[in-house]
Amino acid sequence: MKITEIRTGEVWGHGYSCYVRIYTDVGLTGTGECIHGGDGIQGLIAGLSRFILGEDPMNVDRLWEKMRRYQVFNGAMAGNLVTAMTGIEIALWDLVGKATGLPVYALLGGKFRDKIRMYADCHAGGDDSPQANADKAKEVVDQGFTAIKFDLDDMRHPKKYDMFNHTVNNAELADMVAKATAVREAVGPEIDVAMDLHGRYDTGSAIRIAKALEGLDLLWLEEPVPPENIDAMREVKASTSTPICAGENLYLRWGFKDLVEKQAVDIIMPDLPKCCGLLEGKKIANLAEIYYIPLAPHNVCGPLGTIASCHCCASVPNFLVLEWHWMERPHWHDLVQADPPLIQDGYITLNDRPGLGWELNEEAAEKHLRPGTRLFA
Ligand SMILES: [Mg+2]
Repeated sequence: MKITEIRTGEVWGHGYSCYVRIYTDVGLTGTGECIHGGDGIQGLIAGLSRFILGEDPMNVDRLWEKMRRYQVFNGAMAGNLVTAMTGIEIALWDLVGKATGLPVYALLGGKFRDKIRMYADCHAGGDDSPQANADKAKEVVDQGFTAIKFDLDDMRHPKKYDMFNHTVNNAELADMVAKATAVREAVGPEIDVAMDLHGRYDTGSAIRIAKALEGLDLLWLEEPVPPENIDAMREVKASTSTPICAGENLYLRWGFKDLVEKQAVDIIMPDLPKCCGLLEGKKIANLAEIYYIPLAPHNVCGPLGTIASCHCCASVPNFLVLEWHWMERPHWHDLVQADPPLIQDGYITLNDRPGLGWELNEEAAEKHLRPGTRLFA
Protein backbone atom coordinates (compact mmCIF):
# COMPACT_ATOMS: atom_id res chain seq x y z
CA MET A 1 0.00 0.00 0.00
CA LYS A 2 1.30 3.45 -0.93
CA ILE A 3 0.13 6.98 -0.16
CA THR A 4 -1.00 8.69 -3.36
CA GLU A 5 -2.61 11.97 -2.31
CA ILE A 6 -3.44 14.26 0.62
CA ARG A 7 -6.43 16.59 0.54
CA THR A 8 -7.68 19.05 3.18
CA GLY A 9 -10.62 21.25 4.13
CA GLU A 10 -11.21 23.88 6.83
CA VAL A 11 -14.43 23.86 8.87
CA TRP A 12 -15.56 26.55 11.31
CA GLY A 13 -16.23 25.74 14.95
CA HIS A 14 -13.87 26.88 17.70
CA GLY A 15 -11.95 28.78 15.05
CA TYR A 16 -11.10 26.68 11.99
CA SER A 17 -10.36 22.98 12.22
CA CYS A 18 -8.41 21.46 9.36
CA TYR A 19 -9.60 18.05 8.15
CA VAL A 20 -6.98 15.91 6.41
CA ARG A 21 -7.74 12.99 4.10
CA ILE A 22 -5.02 10.61 2.92
CA TYR A 23 -5.57 8.48 -0.20
CA THR A 24 -3.82 5.25 -1.22
CA ASP A 25 -3.26 3.13 -4.31
CA VAL A 26 -5.56 0.40 -2.91
CA GLY A 27 -8.55 2.70 -2.53
CA LEU A 28 -8.43 3.01 1.27
CA THR A 29 -8.52 6.46 2.83
CA GLY A 30 -7.98 7.85 6.33
CA THR A 31 -9.33 11.12 7.73
CA GLY A 32 -8.00 13.23 10.61
CA GLU A 33 -8.57 16.64 12.15
CA CYS A 34 -6.15 19.18 13.63
CA ILE A 35 -6.78 22.62 15.12
CA HIS A 36 -5.04 25.96 15.80
CA GLY A 37 -2.80 25.46 12.78
CA GLY A 38 -3.20 29.08 11.65
CA ASP A 39 -4.50 30.60 8.41
CA GLY A 40 -1.91 28.79 6.27
CA ILE A 41 -2.57 25.29 7.55
CA GLN A 42 -3.68 23.84 4.19
CA GLY A 43 -0.50 25.13 2.56
CA LEU A 44 1.65 23.67 5.34
CA ILE A 45 0.03 20.25 4.90
CA ALA A 46 0.45 20.44 1.11
CA GLY A 47 4.12 21.23 1.70
CA LEU A 48 4.56 18.25 4.03
CA SER A 49 3.01 15.87 1.50
CA ARG A 50 6.30 15.51 -0.39
CA PHE A 51 7.76 13.64 2.59
CA ILE A 52 5.09 10.96 2.63
CA LEU A 53 3.72 10.57 -0.92
CA GLY A 54 4.71 7.13 -2.25
CA GLU A 55 5.45 5.86 1.28
CA ASP A 56 3.82 2.93 3.06
CA PRO A 57 1.25 4.46 5.48
CA MET A 58 1.65 1.57 7.94
CA ASN A 59 4.91 3.09 9.26
CA VAL A 60 3.20 5.95 11.09
CA ASP A 61 5.99 6.70 13.56
CA ARG A 62 8.64 6.62 10.83
CA LEU A 63 6.63 9.02 8.65
CA TRP A 64 6.10 11.33 11.63
CA GLU A 65 9.80 11.38 12.37
CA LYS A 66 10.66 11.86 8.69
CA MET A 67 8.45 14.97 8.49
CA ARG A 68 9.81 16.31 11.78
CA ARG A 69 13.48 15.85 10.95
CA TYR A 70 13.23 17.24 7.41
CA GLN A 71 11.42 20.30 8.76
CA VAL A 72 13.53 21.12 11.82
CA PHE A 73 15.11 24.07 10.02
CA ASN A 74 11.63 25.34 9.17
CA GLY A 75 10.53 25.27 12.81
CA ALA A 76 9.18 21.77 13.40
CA MET A 77 9.79 22.04 17.15
CA ALA A 78 6.51 23.86 17.93
CA GLY A 79 3.69 25.81 16.37
CA ASN A 80 1.70 25.53 13.17
CA LEU A 81 4.07 23.17 11.39
CA VAL A 82 3.73 20.62 14.19
CA THR A 83 -0.06 21.05 14.04
CA ALA A 84 0.03 20.31 10.29
CA MET A 85 2.04 17.13 11.00
CA THR A 86 -0.54 16.24 13.66
CA GLY A 87 -3.44 16.37 11.20
CA ILE A 88 -1.54 14.01 8.89
CA GLU A 89 -0.63 11.68 11.78
CA ILE A 90 -4.26 11.32 12.91
CA ALA A 91 -5.39 10.62 9.32
CA LEU A 92 -2.65 7.97 9.07
CA TRP A 93 -3.94 6.21 12.21
CA ASP A 94 -7.47 6.15 10.78
CA LEU A 95 -6.08 4.71 7.56
CA VAL A 96 -3.93 2.05 9.27
CA GLY A 97 -6.90 1.05 11.39
CA LYS A 98 -9.02 0.56 8.30
CA ALA A 99 -6.22 -1.39 6.61
CA THR A 100 -5.84 -3.76 9.57
CA GLY A 101 -9.46 -3.91 10.74
CA LEU A 102 -8.43 -2.56 14.16
CA PRO A 103 -9.56 0.47 16.18
CA VAL A 104 -6.85 3.09 16.73
CA TYR A 105 -6.64 2.41 20.48
CA ALA A 106 -5.61 -1.18 19.69
CA LEU A 107 -2.84 0.10 17.42
CA LEU A 108 -1.64 2.28 20.32
CA GLY A 109 -1.27 -0.74 22.62
CA GLY A 110 -4.83 -1.40 23.69
CA LYS A 111 -7.23 0.34 26.05
CA PHE A 112 -7.36 0.90 29.78
CA ARG A 113 -11.01 2.00 29.61
CA ASP A 114 -14.01 1.71 27.29
CA LYS A 115 -15.44 5.16 27.85
CA ILE A 116 -13.73 8.51 28.09
CA ARG A 117 -14.82 10.94 30.78
CA MET A 118 -15.41 14.41 29.34
CA TYR A 119 -15.52 17.78 31.08
CA ALA A 120 -17.56 20.67 29.74
CA ASP A 121 -15.97 24.07 29.29
CA CYS A 122 -18.76 26.45 30.30
CA HIS A 123 -19.61 30.10 29.69
CA ALA A 124 -22.53 31.89 31.31
CA GLY A 125 -22.83 34.21 28.30
CA GLY A 126 -23.26 37.98 28.43
CA ASP A 127 -24.19 38.02 32.14
CA ASP A 128 -21.01 36.98 33.95
CA SER A 129 -22.49 37.36 37.44
CA PRO A 130 -21.87 34.66 40.08
CA GLN A 131 -25.57 33.67 39.86
CA ALA A 132 -25.48 33.32 36.04
CA ASN A 133 -22.39 31.12 36.29
CA ALA A 134 -23.96 29.06 39.06
CA ASP A 135 -27.07 28.56 36.91
CA LYS A 136 -24.94 27.46 33.93
CA ALA A 137 -22.98 25.05 36.15
CA LYS A 138 -26.20 23.38 37.34
CA GLU A 139 -27.54 23.18 33.78
CA VAL A 140 -24.38 21.41 32.56
CA VAL A 141 -24.22 19.00 35.50
CA ASP A 142 -27.86 18.13 34.83
CA GLN A 143 -26.73 16.94 31.38
CA GLY A 144 -24.59 14.31 33.09
CA PHE A 145 -21.15 15.92 33.20
CA THR A 146 -19.18 15.14 36.37
CA ALA A 147 -16.53 17.75 35.65
CA ILE A 148 -16.85 21.36 34.46
CA LYS A 149 -14.58 24.33 33.79
CA PHE A 150 -15.12 28.08 33.80
CA ASP A 151 -12.89 31.03 32.86
CA LEU A 152 -11.84 33.31 35.73
CA ASP A 153 -9.68 35.80 33.84
CA ASP A 154 -11.55 38.80 32.46
CA MET A 155 -9.60 41.12 30.16
CA ARG A 156 -12.58 43.48 30.07
CA HIS A 157 -13.08 43.68 33.84
CA PRO A 158 -14.35 47.23 34.53
CA LYS A 159 -11.89 47.69 37.41
CA LYS A 160 -8.88 46.56 35.38
CA TYR A 161 -6.29 49.36 35.04
CA ASP A 162 -4.22 48.02 32.11
CA MET A 163 -4.86 45.03 29.84
CA PHE A 164 -1.14 44.39 29.30
CA ASN A 165 -0.14 44.45 32.97
CA HIS A 166 -0.37 40.97 34.53
CA THR A 167 -1.09 42.02 38.12
CA VAL A 168 -4.48 41.12 39.60
CA ASN A 169 -6.11 43.89 41.64
CA ASN A 170 -8.31 43.43 44.69
CA ALA A 171 -11.58 44.04 42.82
CA GLU A 172 -10.73 41.46 40.18
CA LEU A 173 -9.65 38.94 42.80
CA ALA A 174 -12.86 39.44 44.80
CA ASP A 175 -14.96 38.83 41.67
CA MET A 176 -12.97 35.68 40.83
CA VAL A 177 -13.54 34.27 44.29
CA ALA A 178 -17.26 35.15 44.19
CA LYS A 179 -17.71 33.45 40.79
CA ALA A 180 -15.77 30.32 41.70
CA THR A 181 -17.55 30.05 45.05
CA ALA A 182 -20.98 30.39 43.41
CA VAL A 183 -20.15 27.59 40.97
CA ARG A 184 -18.84 25.30 43.70
CA GLU A 185 -21.91 25.93 45.89
CA ALA A 186 -24.25 25.33 42.95
CA VAL A 187 -22.88 21.89 42.08
CA GLY A 188 -21.95 20.62 45.54
CA PRO A 189 -18.73 19.01 46.74
CA GLU A 190 -18.57 15.93 44.47
CA ILE A 191 -18.57 17.54 41.01
CA ASP A 192 -15.07 18.32 39.77
CA VAL A 193 -14.65 22.04 39.10
CA ALA A 194 -11.70 23.55 37.22
CA MET A 195 -10.95 27.24 36.65
CA ASP A 196 -8.90 28.70 33.78
CA LEU A 197 -6.67 31.82 33.94
CA HIS A 198 -5.30 31.56 30.33
CA GLY A 199 -1.76 32.42 31.39
CA ARG A 200 -2.67 36.06 32.07
CA TYR A 201 -1.11 36.74 35.49
CA ASP A 202 2.31 37.44 36.97
CA THR A 203 3.79 35.03 39.47
CA GLY A 204 2.78 36.95 42.61
CA SER A 205 -0.78 37.45 41.35
CA ALA A 206 -1.10 33.80 40.35
CA ILE A 207 -0.07 32.75 43.83
CA ARG A 208 -2.61 35.14 45.41
CA ILE A 209 -5.39 33.75 43.19
CA ALA A 210 -4.46 30.11 43.80
CA LYS A 211 -4.35 30.61 47.57
CA ALA A 212 -7.64 32.55 47.59
CA LEU A 213 -9.33 29.56 45.93
CA GLU A 214 -7.86 26.89 48.20
CA GLY A 215 -11.07 26.33 50.17
CA LEU A 216 -13.00 25.34 47.02
CA ASP A 217 -11.24 22.00 46.38
CA LEU A 218 -10.79 22.72 42.68
CA LEU A 219 -9.89 19.92 40.28
CA TRP A 220 -7.31 22.38 38.97
CA LEU A 221 -6.41 26.00 38.36
CA GLU A 222 -5.31 26.26 34.72
CA GLU A 223 -2.35 28.20 33.27
CA PRO A 224 -1.98 30.73 36.14
CA VAL A 225 1.12 32.27 34.51
CA PRO A 226 2.18 32.36 30.83
CA PRO A 227 3.43 29.00 29.55
CA GLU A 228 7.01 29.88 28.56
CA ASN A 229 8.65 30.08 31.99
CA ILE A 230 8.53 26.69 33.70
CA ASP A 231 10.32 27.96 36.83
CA ALA A 232 7.58 30.55 37.41
CA MET A 233 4.92 27.85 36.98
CA ARG A 234 6.76 25.65 39.50
CA GLU A 235 6.87 28.53 41.99
CA VAL A 236 3.09 28.89 41.76
CA LYS A 237 2.57 25.16 42.15
CA ALA A 238 4.90 24.98 45.18
CA SER A 239 3.06 27.84 46.92
CA THR A 240 -0.48 26.44 47.02
CA SER A 241 -2.62 23.40 47.72
CA THR A 242 -4.76 24.29 44.66
CA PRO A 243 -3.70 21.83 41.92
CA ILE A 244 -2.10 23.51 38.90
CA CYS A 245 -2.67 22.31 35.31
CA ALA A 246 -0.85 23.61 32.23
CA GLY A 247 0.48 22.68 28.81
CA GLU A 248 -2.11 23.59 26.15
CA ASN A 249 0.47 25.78 24.37
CA LEU A 250 3.41 23.37 24.52
CA TYR A 251 4.43 21.01 21.69
CA LEU A 252 6.00 17.56 21.43
CA ARG A 253 7.81 15.61 24.18
CA TRP A 254 10.52 18.24 24.33
CA GLY A 255 7.98 20.96 25.07
CA PHE A 256 6.73 18.98 28.08
CA LYS A 257 10.12 17.75 29.29
CA ASP A 258 10.89 20.57 31.74
CA LEU A 259 7.27 20.97 32.86
CA VAL A 260 7.21 17.29 33.86
CA GLU A 261 10.79 16.78 35.06
CA LYS A 262 10.70 19.92 37.24
CA GLN A 263 7.30 18.81 38.50
CA ALA A 264 6.07 22.33 37.81
CA VAL A 265 2.41 21.26 37.59
CA ASP A 266 0.07 18.72 39.17
CA ILE A 267 -1.67 17.86 35.86
CA ILE A 268 -0.61 18.23 32.19
CA MET A 269 -2.98 19.20 29.40
CA PRO A 270 -1.46 18.69 25.92
CA ASP A 271 -3.84 19.52 23.07
CA LEU A 272 -3.35 16.30 21.12
CA PRO A 273 -4.81 17.37 17.70
CA LYS A 274 -2.68 20.52 17.92
CA CYS A 275 0.63 19.79 19.62
CA CYS A 276 1.69 16.23 18.91
CA GLY A 277 -0.80 13.69 17.55
CA LEU A 278 -1.70 10.38 19.13
CA LEU A 279 1.53 8.37 19.43
CA GLU A 280 3.56 11.41 20.52
CA GLY A 281 0.70 12.18 22.93
CA LYS A 282 1.03 8.70 24.38
CA LYS A 283 4.77 9.26 24.79
CA ILE A 284 4.09 12.54 26.64
CA ALA A 285 1.57 10.78 28.89
CA ASN A 286 4.10 8.04 29.60
CA LEU A 287 6.73 10.67 30.48
CA ALA A 288 4.28 12.26 32.93
CA GLU A 289 3.44 8.85 34.39
CA ILE A 290 7.04 8.53 35.63
CA TYR A 291 6.28 11.45 37.99
CA TYR A 292 2.71 10.25 38.76
CA ILE A 293 1.28 13.27 36.89
CA PRO A 294 -2.16 12.74 35.32
CA LEU A 295 -3.19 13.75 31.79
CA ALA A 296 -6.22 15.97 31.15
CA PRO A 297 -5.94 16.94 27.48
CA HIS A 298 -7.04 20.34 26.27
CA ASN A 299 -9.48 19.96 23.36
CA VAL A 300 -11.42 22.44 21.26
CA CYS A 301 -11.74 20.18 18.19
CA GLY A 302 -14.78 19.09 16.29
CA PRO A 303 -15.95 15.51 16.84
CA LEU A 304 -13.33 13.73 14.72
CA GLY A 305 -10.36 15.35 16.51
CA THR A 306 -12.12 14.75 19.82
CA ILE A 307 -12.55 11.05 18.97
CA ALA A 308 -8.85 10.89 18.01
CA SER A 309 -7.97 12.29 21.44
CA CYS A 310 -10.24 9.67 23.03
CA HIS A 311 -8.21 6.85 21.45
CA CYS A 312 -5.02 8.22 23.00
CA CYS A 313 -6.76 8.80 26.34
CA ALA A 314 -7.98 5.19 26.30
CA SER A 315 -4.46 3.90 25.75
CA VAL A 316 -2.69 5.47 28.77
CA PRO A 317 -3.14 4.64 32.46
CA ASN A 318 -2.88 8.21 33.78
CA PHE A 319 -5.81 9.73 31.84
CA LEU A 320 -7.99 11.94 34.05
CA VAL A 321 -10.57 13.79 31.92
CA LEU A 322 -10.85 15.26 28.37
CA GLU A 323 -12.20 18.70 27.45
CA TRP A 324 -15.33 19.39 25.39
CA HIS A 325 -15.57 23.02 24.38
CA TRP A 326 -18.58 23.22 22.05
CA MET A 327 -21.44 23.66 24.53
CA GLU A 328 -22.60 26.78 22.65
CA ARG A 329 -21.88 25.34 19.18
CA PRO A 330 -24.66 22.79 18.44
CA HIS A 331 -23.35 21.95 14.93
CA TRP A 332 -20.60 19.91 16.69
CA HIS A 333 -23.02 16.98 16.82
CA ASP A 334 -23.83 17.31 13.10
CA LEU A 335 -20.20 17.02 12.01
CA VAL A 336 -20.00 13.29 12.74
CA GLN A 337 -22.18 10.39 11.62
CA ALA A 338 -23.19 9.23 15.11
CA ASP A 339 -26.50 7.90 16.34
CA PRO A 340 -27.10 8.29 19.27
CA PRO A 341 -25.09 11.52 19.76
CA LEU A 342 -21.44 10.96 20.59
CA ILE A 343 -21.49 12.35 24.14
CA GLN A 344 -23.83 10.50 26.51
CA ASP A 345 -24.04 11.50 30.20
CA GLY A 346 -20.67 13.20 30.03
CA TYR A 347 -18.82 10.29 28.39
CA ILE A 348 -17.73 9.18 24.91
CA THR A 349 -17.79 5.39 24.58
CA LEU A 350 -15.34 4.13 21.97
CA ASN A 351 -16.57 1.53 19.51
CA ASP A 352 -14.45 -1.31 18.08
CA ARG A 353 -14.83 -0.39 14.42
CA PRO A 354 -11.62 0.02 12.38
CA GLY A 355 -9.73 3.31 12.54
CA LEU A 356 -11.22 6.20 14.51
CA GLY A 357 -14.58 4.39 14.45
CA TRP A 358 -16.71 7.27 13.17
CA GLU A 359 -16.83 9.26 9.92
CA LEU A 360 -16.99 12.98 9.23
CA ASN A 361 -20.44 14.12 8.05
CA GLU A 362 -19.27 15.86 4.89
CA GLU A 363 -22.69 17.33 4.12
CA ALA A 364 -22.68 19.13 7.49
CA ALA A 365 -19.03 20.14 7.11
CA GLU A 366 -19.78 21.73 3.71
CA LYS A 367 -22.10 24.21 5.48
CA HIS A 368 -19.28 25.59 7.65
CA LEU A 369 -16.30 25.72 5.26
CA ARG A 370 -13.83 28.59 5.25
CA PRO A 371 -15.35 31.02 2.68
CA GLY A 372 -14.04 30.49 -0.81
CA THR A 373 -12.62 27.02 -0.10
CA ARG A 374 -13.80 23.47 -0.79
CA LEU A 375 -13.69 20.23 1.21
CA PHE A 376 -11.09 17.65 0.08
CA ALA A 377 -10.93 19.32 -3.35
MG1 LIG B 1 -7.07 26.91 28.90
